[in-house]
Amino acid sequence: PSVCNNSPSELVPDGCASYDTIETLNRKLNPLLQEITHDTDYFSYYRLDLFGRTCPFWDDEGMCGNIACAVTTIDDEKDIPEIWRAEELGKLAGPKASHPISREPTEPSPLRGALGAEREESCIVEEDECDERDYCVPEDETEGSKGDYVSLLENPERFTGYAGAGAQNVWKAIYRENCFDRHPELEETKGGLAGFSKRNPAAMEFAGVMQEKGKHEFGVGKDGKQGLVELDADDMCLEKRVFHRVISGMHASISMHLCWDYLNQSTGEWGPNYECFMSRFKGHPERVQNIYFNYAVLARAVSKLQNYLQDYTFCSGDTYQSRITRAKVLKLAKTAASAEPIFDESLMFKNEMTSLKEEFRNRFRNVSRLMDCVGCDKCRLWGKVQTQGYGTALKVLFEFDEDAEPGVNPVLRRTELVALVNTLHRVSHSLIALDAFKAMWDQRQAEE
Ligand code: FAD
Repeated sequence: PSVCNNSPSELVPDGCASYDTIETLNRKLNPLLQEITHDTDYFSYYRLDLFGRTCPFWDDEGMCGNIACAVTTIDDEKDIPEIWRAEELGKLAGPKASHPISREPTEPSPLRGALGAEREESCIVEEDECDERDYCVPEDETEGSKGDYVSLLENPERFTGYAGAGAQNVWKAIYRENCFDRHPELEETKGGLAGFSKRNPAAMEFAGVMQEKGKHEFGVGKDGKQGLVELDADDMCLEKRVFHRVISGMHASISMHLCWDYLNQSTGEWGPNYECFMSRFKGHPERVQNIYFNYAVLARAVSKLQNYLQDYTFCSGDTYQSRITRAKVLKLAKTAASAEPIFDESLMFKNEMTSLKEEFRNRFRNVSRLMDCVGCDKCRLWGKVQTQGYGTALKVLFEFDEDAEPGVNPVLRRTELVALVNTLHRVSHSLIALDAFKAMWDQRQAEE
């Protein structure tokens, strides 16, 4: 069976070494990620400016980028209880507090209240620092606003009902205007990720990275056959394709979660929606492949932080909490590093391609700015967390030297680290949801 077959069970072909490697790694990393994102204050609160910015690319009303427009896609919305309506589903829940630093020192901390008296605010407060090597617009550095802390646990990534022209315009803008001017479907037809077919001699060394100095790719050729495909000049830029895959993989992971935690509007129950999964993934194996690709990118970035995090202060003023959090994160980084190599960033931006790297970074910043055009609070929250997470991964991959002396690497701010780990957790969970959807597919096939 080929990876381009339509059935979900065949999306991840048996015997493909790299898929196996990632799945094996995920079995080890997922419980660690679950623990870190659920049991530590540091990783379960995120500071961001969710409401202070306007969409910098278009007028909301003109482009139907606002929530009122987006929710109209649920035909019978007015007939269903208010709490199930898209607008309600997209709202934030749980503790949300202003930036503690912007308050008077004598004022009691609402954040501390929200978190519980025994929890230490020092675990989630950070200084504002910026570095020109950032790949994202720093979330917590908006003019005049320091952002809000939001509980990621209280606001799980799930179905919100946000859809229609508003949502599609954002995706379109991300792919078309900020991704080297390509349309997703054009890009998607290119087929599999070469690096994941390690056992295939024609494939290249690592995920999504071209072999033979960028002249060929394992994918679907113009004749419709799968194999080693010669790329035309435009296609040769590996960096642009990596960029696209990161975006497409993020999109696919968001789709996976909204189908996984879906609201059945007839019964009011939340749960996996097989039809939703099929409608978004059937016929698009490359979307699943891009989730694997992103896993490789993120896990490699986390593994690269092993040394850097040895002395990282997680909870200033609370050495006990800091030590516990650090131990959990170091275990994660060490486990990620113990896997077979899954991504080799050294193949990118070779030959001193400074301008391409700069363009890559600028385009990624544009994607992160586009998150302010997302007309649903919860979607915007997770959109921002994940673009920041990928931005951080790219920063670590391309700007960090894992063997550098202390102080040489750029500073990794709290929002960046929190976003990186939570984004890896999202992608890790996408693979688990994929497994469950595959089992549903198999069961239905058996019943037919
Ligand atoms: P969309 O997912 O909107 O896709 C638009 C087009 O992009 C498709 O027609 C297809 O051509 C192409 N495409 C689809 N998937 C891929 C892929 N993986 N790679 C490449 N191309 C692709 N909704 C929720 O319910 N919960 C959320 O948490 C949520 N978060 C969101 C975050 C962001 C940043 C955005 C922009 C939207 C979010 N949405 C969320 C909305 C959701 O992503 C969809 O837009 C919505 O469900 C409508 O889906 P659709 O079927 O119209 O296709």
